[in-house]
Amino acid sequence: MDRSSLKLDVLIFGGGISGLWLLDELHRSGHRALLLESGNLGDGQTINSQGIIHGGLKYALKGRPSRASRMIRDMPMLWRRSLAGEAAPDLSGTIMRGEYCCLWSLPGLRSRIGLLGARFGLRVRPRTLPRNERPEPLRSWKGSVSRIDEQVIEPHSMLAMLADQHRPRCLQIDTRSGLEFETSGRGKVDRVRLLNPETSAPLDLEPRLVMFAAGGGNQQLRQACDLPGQSMQTRPLHMVMARGDLPRLNGHCIKGTSPWLTITSTLDCADRVVWQIGGQLAEDCIDATPAQTIARARTDLARAMPTLNLDDIWFTTYKANRAEAANNGRSRPDGPIHLIEGNTVTLWPTKLALVPMLSDQVMKHVSQPAGLNDDLLQLQDWPRPTVALPPWERDLPWTDVHSATPISM
Ligand SMILES: Cc1cc2nc3c(=O)[nH]c(=O)nc-3n(C[C@H](O)[C@H](O)[C@H](O)COP(=O)(O)OP(=O)(O)OC[C@H]3O[C@@H](n4cnc5c(N)ncnc54)[C@H](O)[C@@H]3O)c2cc1C
Repeated sequence: MDRSSLKLDVLIFGGGISGLWLLDELHRSGHRALLLESGNLGDGQTINSQGIIHGGLKYALKGRPSRASRMIRDMPMLWRRSLAGEAAPDLSGTIMRGEYCCLWSLPGLRSRIGLLGARFGLRVRPRTLPRNERPEPLRSWKGSVSRIDEQVIEPHSMLAMLADQHRPRCLQIDTRSGLEFETSGRGKVDRVRLLNPETSAPLDLEPRLVMFAAGGGNQQLRQACDLPGQSMQTRPLHMVMARGDLPRLNGHCIKGTSPWLTITSTLDCADRVVWQIGGQLAEDCIDATPAQTIARARTDLARAMPTLNLDDIWFTTYKANRAEAANNGRSRPDGPIHLIEGNTVTLWPTKLALVPMLSDQVMKHVSQPAGLNDDLLQLQDWPRPTVALPPWERDLPWTDVHSATPISM
């Protein structure tokens, strides 16, 4: 079969929020860019995320602003403009889960001091919520409840909006049998050879720059280009989902100096309210079974919202890995990270909220467009990737209090 070939300014691997955001940026600045996706868009992290556009509070709970909280503090403003359609990328079609997060803490001196101290050095600060504006399960909470203007988005709708705008530039690939790199040194990619997953028609891509924005998939891509493998870490989470007669609520319950429960809510395809529950619970339950994790979630929720009736609520769990740059044995890097090697850039945003900063950093290394035309007609028959299913729409075993085996942890 004849090989067709295509010269590109930039070739991006991975269609989560990082890859799609950069594709949008590159396209607007006149670059000829393509994005290759091996699974479903956002699979891995973006589709599993809680969608909170953090402003740094969760990194300042020790009572003083940290480097991480300073780095992220401008992000809510940038996202707000994109989500309103006032700045690029235009994310105005994104479904909003909420305009703010609630914040309340379990009794304890450290929690109170942390919340007080966290006010300083942040752009979005907690403000007390009058009792009548609190969400139902927090109305009779004895301590104070604040709101912090961190928006919460529905990641699926954001991915779908970007994917629709860039459909001609997003290709489905099969990394097992339809992808080969031709390199001339560490990280120096000369050519990427693809096979159309449906017709097996070959295609050669000759990019000036290659971006690895594949989250957990970056490791394998780096190995294929002779790049060192120890530059990435994965940190797992065991998330809980609750479904049923629940109020819409987004927020963090603080214990000591960390978010103990982080709850975001959404509607499923049958219009039922679903809570995604993360925070310390999801970190602590990595090695726990789903039944143990659900039992712990019930106990924690009963403590954080004593008036909430969980009798008819259904629960399930899912696991997801956070993929980040390795950080010298410490946990999360403070900000987004990119590595430049040869003509490749490997990138990890660290948080969804940090993608605009990552994009600014990476775009500084992109040369002016080579003046290639944006005619991609030869790719019109190539299959296009679709957006991954959110966790609550997947086929997971849900249990209620009557079916779950109670196990104490
Ligand atoms: C449970 C959970 C909750 C989170 N909540 C939040 C939150 O509330 N706020 C926040 O700011 N951050 C949150 N995060 C972090 C945030 O989700 C990530 O930082 C961000 O989504 C990473 O986006 P990404 O595009 O770099 O990677 P991903 O979203 O993982 O996307 C990678 C893409 O690459 C594709 N891919 C993989 N391998 C290949 C390959 N070989 N070739 C081509 N394509 C490939 C995948 O299919 C996928 O589409 C959360 C993370 C998790 C796990």
